[in-house]
Amino acid sequence: MASVPIKTGGKVEPLRKTRPCPECGKPSSREHYPFCSDRCRTLDLSRWLKGSYAIPVAEDEAKADRSDERE
Ligand SMILES: [Zn+2]
Repeated sequence: MASVPIKTGGKVEPLRKTRPCPECGKPSSREHYPFCSDRCRTLDLSRWLKGSYAIPVAEDEAKADRSDERE
């Protein structure tokens, strides 16, 4: 007897894929997507803003003292 493979199409996929919170790794909520909570969103935002201001440019210039000319 030949067994006919039954196609299981009863898998229901969500409209949006739930991503883990980039801040703490917990499953994100729909309300605070892609974060899990408003706290994590604020935390990430504040850190991003601080990071953009705290870019050490002087240190990088000191290392790149010698000019490399490459054509
Ligand atoms: Zn989180």
